[in-house]
Amino acid sequence: MTEEQRETLRHRLDEAVVEAQESIPYLTEAGKPVEPSVALGRLTRMEAISEKGVNEEMLRQTKARLERLQNALTRMENGTYGVCPRCKREITFERLYAIPEAILCVSCADKRG
Ligand SMILES: [Zn+2]
Repeated sequence: MTEEQRETLRHRLDEAVVEAQESIPYLTEAGKPVEPSVALGRLTRMEAISEKGVNEEMLRQTKARLERLQNALTRMENGTYGVCPRCKREITFERLYAIPEAILCVSCADKRG
């Protein structure tokens, strides 16, 4: 990986971290219990509850991704970023560009299913 590619990926990680951090307060708010007294407009209470479930799931996934992104930044600090821990080969820039928090290379990720 070139220095320039590393910088590009660091930038993508930083952006993704900010994005995740910004959506967490919104999702936390949206995942709060549905008050029976709340004026829901055209939404029925059932719909509001199911939407809350979706937001809770998104919140869970966003928090998990944030953790993976921060782990990736840590690996970048200590120089282990972009190397597959299974086969010890470099992960392609294309894969890292698509999924900057990727830990395994394509073939190891495929083998794991
Ligand atoms: Zn691998």
